[in-house]
Amino acid sequence: SVEAPRLCRDCRELDLPRAFAEADEFFDANWDLVLGLRQRNSPSFTGLQVATLGTRIVPDEKAACQLCRFLWDVRAGDAADDGYHLRSFPSFWALPFIKLSSGAIRSNHRRAPSSVLAVVPAHLSDQGEIRARLLGHGSVIFRAPASVTNPRFVTARPIAPIADLGLVSDWIAFCAKNHGPGCLETKGGRGKRSKTVAGFRLLDCATRLVVEASVRQRFVALSYVWGAPGGTADAAALLRWPKVVEDAIAVTEALGLRYLWVDRYCIDQDNAKEKHQQISNMHIIYQQAQLTIVAAAGSDSNYGLPGVSRLRETLPSVSVSGLDLLAVPQDAYKSIRESTWWERGWTYQEGVLSRRRVVFTEHQIYFECGAMVGYECFQLPPSAFHSPSLLNQERFIRGGLLSGFSGVESRGASSFRQTTSAHKDVRDVAASHIRNYSHRKLSYNTDVFNAIQGILTSLQIHTVLGIILPSSPAGLFPGSSTPPAETRRDLCAGLVSWWHESPHAIRIPEFPSWSWVGWRGNV
Ligand SMILES: [Zn+2]
Ligand SMILES: [Zn+2]
Repeated sequence: SVEAPRLCRDCRELDLPRAFAEADEFFDANWDLVLGLRQRNSPSFTGLQVATLGTRIVPDEKAACQLCRFLWDVRAGDAADDGYHLRSFPSFWALPFIKLSSGAIRSNHRRAPSSVLAVVPAHLSDQGEIRARLLGHGSVIFRAPASVTNPRFVTARPIAPIADLGLVSDWIAFCAKNHGPGCLETKGGRGKRSKTVAGFRLLDCATRLVVEASVRQRFVALSYVWGAPGGTADAAALLRWPKVVEDAIAVTEALGLRYLWVDRYCIDQDNAKEKHQQISNMHIIYQQAQLTIVAAAGSDSNYGLPGVSRLRETLPSVSVSGLDLLAVPQDAYKSIRESTWWERGWTYQEGVLSRRRVVFTEHQIYFECGAMVGYECFQLPPSAFHSPSLLNQERFIRGGLLSGFSGVESRGASSFRQTTSAHKDVRDVAASHIRNYSHRKLSYNTDVFNAIQGILTSLQIHTVLGIILPSSPAGLFPGSSTPPAETRRDLCAGLVSWWHESPHAIRIPEFPSWSWVGWRGNV
């Protein structure tokens, strides 16, 4: 480097190259700790102590020492009076999608991990809490790829202000090759029904015109939030594409595709009949798209996609003793759950129904298809955490966030295959989706049923205003004979199967009170 970094006396005494080298060696020799496995009654692993920092690291602006400032910026939350420790961990700890305590990694991917460092509040002594803090705060310190002498398994990819979309192409190519073009086609969902949607239109990125098209055309879908309803857009503003659409056009073209579907511009908003038809076929549209671009940053359509036209914030980094150190962003799940996109009702089924999702968060790009996840900030081959037997994969990889089932914080993500498993009752699947969906917000009361209809239709289950009906509802309707006892029992079960988690549900007068759609509140 050109300019020698100014370090305080304490920091000059920290031998970081040696700390990394010792940790690399220690974790190579102690795989049980790497995997989070431990013997019964042995203490849980809370990191290898590198140095006691105490209370000497202080808030940003007061620190004259570059390393002190860096350590403060990447600390894993606030400490008590006893201050901080600098500890090392195996890099598996930094991968949010890896389930620790899993023997599966041992057999499949036993390769030397790189070690990482973290600034941990000294009072923390629980393994699970420490890992959650490291992931939630973006508190893992990696060596930059150039600073790692012997190439090791997991390294960090620096997050540049503008994203390299070649990475997204690689993920899509890997998915198409290993999971098939439709990425794990679901039973009865994709592929079988006649794929025509009347009045379907696409935005042609080459001419910038909205043209009539077939849903069999290769296209990209966009999932985003419009912004506050009822805004008074002037005529000139209506003629321009909002920034998120401009950016999505750029991404579509960078991925070698030509057509983009954007609800607001591809559905004729003034044609009630056509609008209704497209809403009822939303599942076909999102399932037919090659991928869905998810705009999970900002609160309206003029924010744009971070890393495309919008420059991303650079994360803390520092160069000391010949080492380039950098921090990785917080877990992409956290960024997505904190976004306005995640709060909204319509986007729920857009995430669930898509076959591949490329999510632009404030900090990085996240990829999720039916069988794998990709994080921009980690450099590792997609095959590393991908098992040819996808069922086996569940043992060591956390399930997807957007494919459903993990919408409620604290409940954690569940398996990728749940949506496609033939053994799972589709009515249970539908009930899980309804539960997750009821946490979302809608601008218009009347949308409460429309915005989840695509999921219910694609599962091919019978519902009346959101109430899940028995598998054979024929006997329930006027003019037919008395339904069998089993059918009547299932209907009663459907009517009493939902309840509100809080007592403050608000009545939605447009819908009957006997269904959850008649109320606003979590069920
Ligand atoms: Zn210092
Ligand atoms: Zn896939």
